[in-house]
Amino acid sequence: MSSMKQAVALLFLACASMLFAQANGTAPSAPQTFSPIPGLDRSLMDKTADPCVDFYQYACGNWSKLHPIPNDSPYSDQFYNLEQYNRQVLHGILEKAGADDPSRDANTKKIGDYYASCMDEAAVQQKGLAPLQPELDRINGLTSKKQLPELLAHYQLINVNAFLGFGSQQDFKDATRTIAVASQNGLGLPEKDYYFRTGAKDEEIRKQYVQHVTNVLKLLGSSETQAASDAAAIMKLETALAKVSLDVTSQRDPHNIYHMMPVKDLQALTPTFDWNHLYSTTGSPAFTEINVAEPEFFKGMNQVIAETDLPTIKAYLRWQLVTSIAGSILPKALDEEKFDFYGRKLAGTPEREARWKRCVRSTDGALPEALGKIYVDQQFPAASKEKAVQMIHDIEAAMGRDIDSLDWMSAATRTRAKEKLHLIANKVGYPDKWRDYSKLQIVRGDAFGNNLRAAEFESLRQLAKIGKPVDRQEWLTSTPTVNAFYNPSMNDINFPAGVLQPAFFDAQQPDALNYGHIGLFMGHEITHGFDDQGRQFDGHGDLKDWWTKEDSDKFNQKAQCIVDEYAQFSVGDTKLNGKLTLGENTADNGGMRLAYMAFLGRATQEGIDLNKKSADGYTPMQQLFLGFAQDWCSQWRPELERLVATTDPHSPDRFRANGVLVNMPEFGAAFACKVGQPMAPAKTCRVW
Ligand SMILES: [Zn+2]
Repeated sequence: MSSMKQAVALLFLACASMLFAQANGTAPSAPQTFSPIPGLDRSLMDKTADPCVDFYQYACGNWSKLHPIPNDSPYSDQFYNLEQYNRQVLHGILEKAGADDPSRDANTKKIGDYYASCMDEAAVQQKGLAPLQPELDRINGLTSKKQLPELLAHYQLINVNAFLGFGSQQDFKDATRTIAVASQNGLGLPEKDYYFRTGAKDEEIRKQYVQHVTNVLKLLGSSETQAASDAAAIMKLETALAKVSLDVTSQRDPHNIYHMMPVKDLQALTPTFDWNHLYSTTGSPAFTEINVAEPEFFKGMNQVIAETDLPTIKAYLRWQLVTSIAGSILPKALDEEKFDFYGRKLAGTPEREARWKRCVRSTDGALPEALGKIYVDQQFPAASKEKAVQMIHDIEAAMGRDIDSLDWMSAATRTRAKEKLHLIANKVGYPDKWRDYSKLQIVRGDAFGNNLRAAEFESLRQLAKIGKPVDRQEWLTSTPTVNAFYNPSMNDINFPAGVLQPAFFDAQQPDALNYGHIGLFMGHEITHGFDDQGRQFDGHGDLKDWWTKEDSDKFNQKAQCIVDEYAQFSVGDTKLNGKLTLGENTADNGGMRLAYMAFLGRATQEGIDLNKKSADGYTPMQQLFLGFAQDWCSQWRPELERLVATTDPHSPDRFRANGVLVNMPEFGAAFACKVGQPMAPAKTCRVW
């Protein structure tokens, strides 16, 4: 709900896995179990490929054969494999916790009852639309647009995305404090461009979308004619909102989403919308200033509300309500309809996930630190944490040497860069202090109520932070999460226990593989502190320019080389957006250089013979690059590739591997490539 998510740089796409795998259900899918993949899996390699022509093909060519995309997923990759494995572990924990046993401790009872209620499909089905009725009644009860702020306040608490977002965020310009934020929202399609792009495929998606909205309204009780005309009006309303929304590429510049103003100035932007009414209904603490992330959007929203008749707004609210609520707690017909559009049509996934998978995910989302604590106790020994922390220290030391060696940076900027590096905080494995859930009420048998109460609990927790000092110890993700991120406002890197697992990390495997796999991720996240976005924040997390003008220009020149390099890559007929992916590509390139440097340092310290082939037939340096490339082994459905090529700041996996290696002569040397071969071009890019 806050714009925090726009500032945090995740390691890999979260949108596809979260947005689309979530809409799903009960269709039978072949039982499938997932096991950890070794750090160097030779069976994944296509030995017929020439590593100097296409290294991704060489390292990952057999992935699709060995790990075909399951019917209930839009893709299959290393992250997916590990995420599924972790979900099996959580499934075991929750099946046990779900037994109605009086000896359970308070948190175990909460996660167990939440999960068991979600699993009780018969009860959900038998209740039908009844749990939704009070929410529908609220909409039916609207007699004037003046009542909208009160309803939208309630929607902020239960995570319904209609019109706008209101929440808290760390102040970009003063990282010690938490401020209120209002941000754009309210679209049912993934991004603004979906409403405007031309071409047969996009027109088809829009047509299918309007049909989907029609179907949902019919399932809520509207007649065919009414539903169709409402859906057309909703499409018109959302298109008007999309028109005034900021696009994803512009959102990457923090200045574009930061406009602190007195609350009366936001009020002046939207004369027909009473913000005070919204604030007070949410129960947020009082405040005098707010970050209006996208002022143009709010001006436009005011106009959209003024120009749209009340019946259309009510239809839009019904639609947004249902599309925001998890399918698993809705009657089967609605659940299936939601999956059909978001899963099948938009992401190309043939089948819904098994119910247990969705209920595990939902419990992880609702009670992350209650479930996560048990996960950590079971899956993350102290030795793993120790080794991961040591690797991060190696990589930070490598970044220090890297900054010292740059020939284009002035002494003044260099000093500030090193200051920032030393201030990076490392969050590894799990939080030191676990969240208290004693005030969250979970009722066995009430899946719908549990879901809404958990959303409200979290929203109120976020809102209560407004005006308070920032808690730097807090974790933003659950511990079983298979992802990592850099947060520029915190200036910290985050590695949950869930990603510190094979194939990415194994305290027992050779260093070369650990540095190639998770070392790259660590270097990637640290480099985010110094990419086109992160470099605008200082070591304390404040959005403050610490670069000399000259160094800034030189940085942009170097970065342009990366923009141009990746803009040449394409997926099907869609070219990559070199500017949108710049931050991630910079982090991938810098990250691998740091992993390489850190491994060299470690090898010297441990006396690892870099020329000696291991039992697997590869030298440590070759293992390093193979481990790196195998991070990105994947296969995606064409629908997802298309979706991601246009909306995700990360490049497709093939390019995340090859796009980096062509810039590293050290890679060419390790595989004896000749300069001029595709993987060893004469011209290379380097920022960090
Ligand atoms: Zn990243």
